[in-house]
Amino acid sequence: MFRLEDKVALVTGGSRGIGRAVCTTLAGAGAHVIVNYQGNEAAAAETLDQVKAAGGQGEIRQFSVTDSNAADTAIRDIAKAHGRLDILINNAGIAMDQLLLRVSQDEVEQTFSTNVAGAIYCAKAAIRPMMRKKAGRIINLSSVVAELGNAGQAVYSASKAAVIGLTKTLAREYASRGITVNAVAPGFIDTDMTSSLPAEMKEWIVSQTPLARVGTPEEVAAAVLFLASDEAAYVTGQVLRVNGGMYV
Ligand code: NAD
Repeated sequence: MFRLEDKVALVTGGSRGIGRAVCTTLAGAGAHVIVNYQGNEAAAAETLDQVKAAGGQGEIRQFSVTDSNAADTAIRDIAKAHGRLDILINNAGIAMDQLLLRVSQDEVEQTFSTNVAGAIYCAKAAIRPMMRKKAGRIINLSSVVAELGNAGQAVYSASKAAVIGLTKTLAREYASRGITVNAVAPGFIDTDMTSSLPAEMKEWIVSQTPLARVGTPEEVAAAVLFLASDEAAYVTGQVLRVNGGMYV
């Protein structure tokens, strides 16, 4: 079950955290994984080492998802080199937490540029080779806060809610082309993104989580693998929540 032999997958922001776990999980299932990174080549190379250690194959590819031309060129190159792009994981994301009254225009623009526009640019470029094969999987990383809200995350939660709207629309737009589009909405996952949160905040989050612990990147990656697999062929436009029961 959930094998990805002969499939080519692109994971944005694959150099660490959830993106890295997705890269190694997809590679372990047999996919050729392209590890996208923005700036940290050494970290991306480390992910690639882990991909190979998982028995898989892959390569690293630098571009910022905020640059539509760069994303388009990279995805065209990948599709040309491999003759296909089967799976796109829009994982790259940033969070700039701030109470609304302190939020700057720059924070709004940077967050939406990465989390929303970045997913749109990559999806737009990936749809073309997927349409040629009449098959494809796009999986977008949303968040529990898109549906639950969270004080201090007005901009981030709005961007992650936008990702759900994007997911549902693309699911409808490309269903007839054999392409499914789903979102994975993690709860609190132990990564660099969450490491700076104060201890009291983490304790409070765990107290609000029925499974009474934080999640791991591998637990999110397992949900991504399911949605990327042939077995998920009848699942599209959905939000798969991986949050320990925080939002039910
Ligand atoms: P992380 O900060 O550890 O990793 C994010 C990755 O995205 C980094 O490698 C970063 O370099 C990359 N990135 C940022 N901007 C980029 C750009 N312009 N182009 C290419 N890459 C870029 O975060 P994470 O915790 O692994 O989160 C991964 C995804 O899951 C994000 O979309 C995040 O919003 C989402 N998420 C995380 C949690 C959590 O608790 N950690 C919860 C819900 C959703």
